[in-house]
Amino acid sequence: MFEKVLIANRGEIALRIHRACREMGIKTVAVHSTADADAMHVRLANESVCIGPPSATDSYLNIPAIISACEITGADAVHPGYGFLSENARFAEILEAHGITFIGPTAEHIRLMGDKIQAKSTVKELGIPVVPGSDGAIKTDDEAYKVAEETGFPVLVKAAAGGGGRGMKVAQTREELSGALANARSEAKAAFGDDSLYMEKYLGQPRHIEIQVVADSHGNVVHLGERDCSLQRRHQKVLEECPSPALNDAQRAEIGGIVSKAIKGLGYLGVGTVEFLYENGEFFFIEMNTRLQVEHPITEMVTGIDLVREQIRIAAGLEMSFTQDEVAFSGHAIECRINAEDPRTFTPSPGTIKDFHTPGGLGVRVDSGVYSGYRIPPYYDSLIGKLIVHGRNRNECLMRLRRTLHEFVIDGVKTTIPLFQELVNEPDFINGDYHIHWLEDFLAETT
Ligand code: ADP
Repeated sequence: MFEKVLIANRGEIALRIHRACREMGIKTVAVHSTADADAMHVRLANESVCIGPPSATDSYLNIPAIISACEITGADAVHPGYGFLSENARFAEILEAHGITFIGPTAEHIRLMGDKIQAKSTVKELGIPVVPGSDGAIKTDDEAYKVAEETGFPVLVKAAAGGGGRGMKVAQTREELSGALANARSEAKAAFGDDSLYMEKYLGQPRHIEIQVVADSHGNVVHLGERDCSLQRRHQKVLEECPSPALNDAQRAEIGGIVSKAIKGLGYLGVGTVEFLYENGEFFFIEMNTRLQVEHPITEMVTGIDLVREQIRIAAGLEMSFTQDEVAFSGHAIECRINAEDPRTFTPSPGTIKDFHTPGGLGVRVDSGVYSGYRIPPYYDSLIGKLIVHGRNRNECLMRLRRTLHEFVIDGVKTTIPLFQELVNEPDFINGDYHIHWLEDFLAETT
């Protein structure tokens, strides 16, 4: 097992990784920018190294500084968390060249899944259903018109290197297609330095359902069921739940089995998430994330499995600690992403948290790195914490969520808690009757 893990991230996820290491008796190294010197994970880690100024490019994305921090501290492995360098194949290769273990999949798989065109054709060959659309990259408007004729309008133009909902444009009609291609191309070029595009049928009212998988180097592959992440704004997840109100046990076992088989065929290593859109009883692959996800705690609450511990064990060459037959899904879990933002306009609200009091009690988990007196720096994303609740069934989970949202105190900055307080009383949400456009429709109607 590793002796010392360097955590190449910040915020709640850095603390989350520290906690798993601590329980396993592994020492931790925190790296931080000058803006994060007072962060909780920096205080709790065994050692810390400042890796640069506030700008993420100069700190959390600064590979030479992170490698130096590994060498100075003697860290034998790096956990990248999510975001930042977590899906950077080059980073994984450089670590390997320095004899340091990257806690994640191989560089080859990161690269393969990072190119969504390649990802889609690879999983299709492995038996996973995909969204109808172009067979590979779209180079000319004529090619795009041809694909649209086959799939029908509306269509979605997507960036091969896409992420965070960027480089994605809808064309409702033939007239809109050329403009959508041009806009997606320039957005993709600016955001990712790669303007390769592909096209998909734009699904009208699907749910976003993703399957969590875990694979070790001993040939074991297990799926941990699904997460429903259909409550989104601008293609970004806002609230997630597990299990999905739309699936039954047989459907879960079926799609889980298809995914496990494909992941085994791929020879994948570590944890990963295969994302689908789900409409009229059918699954359509959209992408695979080769890392730990923000919403992983709801799976942990329902299965009792510590995903970060499994990641570390697998990276150290051990077998995962459970078999598919031993995975038992118990009850229901919901996660709310609490951002320091205006709950209606979503304008970021950085500043100092004057008072911070987290809810507690049975089935309540708060993953957050902030505390009373903490100053939220304006340089990074606005996630300040995740409220995760678990109940024996969805109804109990909702009751608990309402209670905890009232108990949560965050003073000094605006947060998205009032939005969640509204959502938990909305009939559609209570009935589990929502799709990926539901939240935007709700916001438009009620603002
Ligand atoms: P990113 O990597 O940028 O997050 P994804 O491919 O994962 O992109 O898609 C993000 C979200 O965009 C999905 O959860 C869904 O809401 C929407 N989306 C993606 N593909 C389609 C599609 N073919 N039809 C309708 N919505 C889509």
